[in-house]
Amino acid sequence: MKSIVFIEKNPVSGKLRNVSIELTHKAYTLSNPLKGEVVGIFAGDALPGNTDELFRFGMSRLLYFTDARLKHLHSIAFKHIFEEMIRSEEPDIVLFGATHTGRDIAPLIASSLKTGLTADCTQLYIEDYKDKGKILYQVRPAFGGNILATIITPDNRPMMASVREGVMLLPEEHLNHPVKMEPFTIDFNESWVKSEFLSVIPKVKKVDFGSANIIVSGGAGVGSAENFRLIRELANALKGEVGASRAAVDFGFAEKDHQIGQTGSVVRPKLYIACGISGQIQHRAGMEESQKIIAINKDPEAPIFNIAHMGIVGDLSEIIPVMLRYLKEEG
Ligand SMILES: Cc1cc2nc3c(=O)[nH]c(=O)nc-3n(C[C@H](O)[C@H](O)[C@H](O)COP(=O)(O)OP(=O)(O)OC[C@H]3O[C@@H](n4cnc5c(N)ncnc54)[C@H](O)[C@@H]3O)c2cc1C
Repeated sequence: MKSIVFIEKNPVSGKLRNVSIELTHKAYTLSNPLKGEVVGIFAGDALPGNTDELFRFGMSRLLYFTDARLKHLHSIAFKHIFEEMIRSEEPDIVLFGATHTGRDIAPLIASSLKTGLTADCTQLYIEDYKDKGKILYQVRPAFGGNILATIITPDNRPMMASVREGVMLLPEEHLNHPVKMEPFTIDFNESWVKSEFLSVIPKVKKVDFGSANIIVSGGAGVGSAENFRLIRELANALKGEVGASRAAVDFGFAEKDHQIGQTGSVVRPKLYIACGISGQIQHRAGMEESQKIIAINKDPEAPIFNIAHMGIVGDLSEIIPVMLRYLKEEG
């Protein structure tokens, strides 16, 4: 079972996007037991600075095409190049990061190859299906996150899926495949470039969940934007990051960048403190794999307590100031 992973770089840092590394490892766990290889496909103005990382997580070859005209996203050009790369490899599985670029390119390729694509998968595994042998099972939330749908593509190849950053875990131990870079040749057609980029203004990232060991999140129960300062103060005191439920974002207590959950970020900090968050499935989808979860909620029946390692039943406006006082006294 051969897998292809769409490899992307961060245009600001010039390094691989984490999701590319995460999907390389995921593809390896799918393909390797069935004696299949993992091949990366990349196109851009220059290779990412740290492509070696991919080989440490199970990639056996990286096909790449570099051209100065590909500094920015040109959907049609990318579609032609990646489609050719995929056709030349005849893979069983193709995985895309559910990034802006991945969301743009993957459907174009799936429709050209006349195959299925499951977006925003949260689980991927291989199992037998009737007389079709081993196929890829693609699991994703559906109907507003209230059910998990398992989607299959038994009759067409490749089986395509996209996954958001942070969803697939990386192992502690690394593999060490030899680095094998393979330039790909294609007749680049000028007509594939349909737009001209006059200037690019990078979005300033206000939230860094990736490197936060502790996240303090506030929900609708915080009550007001004014009261949300308690969440920020606790996050500051713990040198952590500020998270929010969608309800807190919708009420204007916090900006959208802070949202955690199915339609926000997926996080796995060492400690997640959920304050005034009920724990609906769409929120849990973004945080339930945190190593330790502490929940503060005045309703002892709140579903968040079902997944919390420690629960504090009470009013957050009284509990957080006590925590802050304690942290201050302890230095
Ligand atoms: C398609 C779809 C996608 C979604 N995506 C997301 C997502 O990415 N992230 C997300 O979070 N939600 C998402 N939602 C919304 C989700 O279903 C919930 O509505 C939301 O998570 C509720 O947020 P909350 O827990 O802050 O608010 P509520 O459910 O209103 O809970 C507030 C909690 O605060 C407690 N409380 C009240 N006052 C206090 C107090 N003084 N002290 C302590 N506790 C108190 C209450 O007991 C209650 O449990 C999505 C929904 C849909 C349909």
